[in-house]
Amino acid sequence: MDLSIVIPLFNEEESLPELAAWIERVVNTHQYSYEIILIDDGSTDDSWSVIERLQQKNQHIKGIKFQRNYGKSAAMNEGFKAASGEVIITMDADMQDSPDEIPALRNMILEGNYDIVSGWKKKRYDNTFSKNLPSKLFNKAARSMSKIHLHDFNCGLKAYKKKVVKSIEVYGEMHRYVPVLAKWAGFRKIGEKVVEHRPRKYGVTKFGWTRFVNGFLDLLTIFFVGKFGKRPMHFFGLWGTLSFMFGSLVFIYLTISKFVFDVTGLTQRPLFFFAILSMIIGTQLFLAGFLGELISRNSIERNNYLIEDKIGL
Ligand code: UDP
Ligand code: MG
Repeated sequence: MDLSIVIPLFNEEESLPELAAWIERVVNTHQYSYEIILIDDGSTDDSWSVIERLQQKNQHIKGIKFQRNYGKSAAMNEGFKAASGEVIITMDADMQDSPDEIPALRNMILEGNYDIVSGWKKKRYDNTFSKNLPSKLFNKAARSMSKIHLHDFNCGLKAYKKKVVKSIEVYGEMHRYVPVLAKWAGFRKIGEKVVEHRPRKYGVTKFGWTRFVNGFLDLLTIFFVGKFGKRPMHFFGLWGTLSFMFGSLVFIYLTISKFVFDVTGLTQRPLFFFAILSMIIGTQLFLAGFLGELISRNSIERNNYLIEDKIGL
């Protein structure tokens, strides 16, 4: 199969028929063999019955329905698992991403030999203050932490080689950082293509202001997990040991000053409490590192969803 189009959606009943028709028009023009995988992330509107109806008309459409809303990352992860095309394209369901970009993205993967091509919404049709400006900041931070030179990490429209999506696991809210996850997995050829962005036609945005808080926390997670996820002891152990040793040295100094130089009132000196604090913090950090090591050895299944229903699969 040439192409899998993976579309996570949450309450997008109005957009779906139009979106499906548009995608069909594009892939038929180019005569791709394809599948459209629609992942209903626990919608509370009629999205799933719309998907069922679309599936009856077109056997290339496949649907996965979550029992409840697990988030875009979870939906993408399930879509990736189900996808069987040589090239996998992800896009949003709200028609802010244009299906007309599909052929060019696919060509970049196949002919340009990219592992990932990420869309860049150079001209955005979103609110300047609630989205565009914060997103500029966010992308700058993501760029400097991940060392991947993308202008627009969070663009829903992206294309992947099959083996990329089969080797990564998107969980939590990591859908913003799929290129970073891919880079960790060892895929280094990451490209970018300016894509057309359109105003949202139906419905409302599913991510409020919390996106920025969560986005930045996830960025820290990404950074930390990337660097020390597999070896927490190297971070916590190091700082824990240093802090403990520092505290001990101060204690030795205090002891000497009492017994050798006869300075009294040991417990009245700020340094005394500082030494205790430093040793306690050191022990805590060391312990955190040790527990981290134990946990990372017993890593559990993070992606365990309850899938209510599947069609066409
Ligand atoms: N989405 C999802 N699960 C969620 C939230 C969003 O599958 O919990 C989907 C949503 O239906 C859309 C895409 O993720 O297809 C992007 O969401 P949205 O358009 O609201 O984000 P924005 O364009 O405002 O960044
Ligand atoms: Mg949108």
